[in-house]
Amino acid sequence: DSRIKLLEEKIRTYPDFPKPGILFRDIFSVLADPRSFQVMIKLLEEKIQSLCPNVDVVMGLESRGFLLAAPLALALSKPLVPMRKKGKLPGKTKQVSYTLEYSTDTFEAQVDGIKPDQTVVIVDDLLATGGTMKAACDLVTSMGGKVALCIVVIELSDLKGCEEITAPFQSIVKY
Ligand code: IMP
Repeated sequence: DSRIKLLEEKIRTYPDFPKPGILFRDIFSVLADPRSFQVMIKLLEEKIQSLCPNVDVVMGLESRGFLLAAPLALALSKPLVPMRKKGKLPGKTKQVSYTLEYSTDTFEAQVDGIKPDQTVVIVDDLLATGGTMKAACDLVTSMGGKVALCIVVIELSDLKGCEEITAPFQSIVKY
């Protein structure tokens, strides 16, 4: 698909960011080019339409996931629900904590965002170890929702993050 090639060309790679030894893949270079941005959203939308056309809710993961989830929610005419780091969402929230190698992080979503048995597509820019996506899946499930699909633009295949995820998983570009 020539559209995937275009995306691969536009995604910029930064060595040693944010720490030495890390190869950072950046989608802001895609967003800086309207044609590539449009192609990226269209590719995500097509996968969602073909795999879960009747999905109820689009969940975006802080913070780059918001930039993808917002145009997707509009294109699909579905509600957008954000998952944020603890302490940034007003009202009643449901939380999930997950442990990284050295620290624990807590994510949350507003409880009225997902109703029991609603199906959810979870959107983020990139899957690395899969910890963030797994936390989002656990959060949706704890709210009574069902994860229909987890989708990212970039998958770092070497890290085998998709093995962490029991729900259907899709990515567009693999490294
Ligand atoms: P994971 O939880 O290890 O799968 O990391 C995925 C999360 O970290 C996503 O929310 C990404 O936005 C972020 N992330 C990790 N590595 C990169 C990268 O190389 N580029 C952009 N975001 C990254």
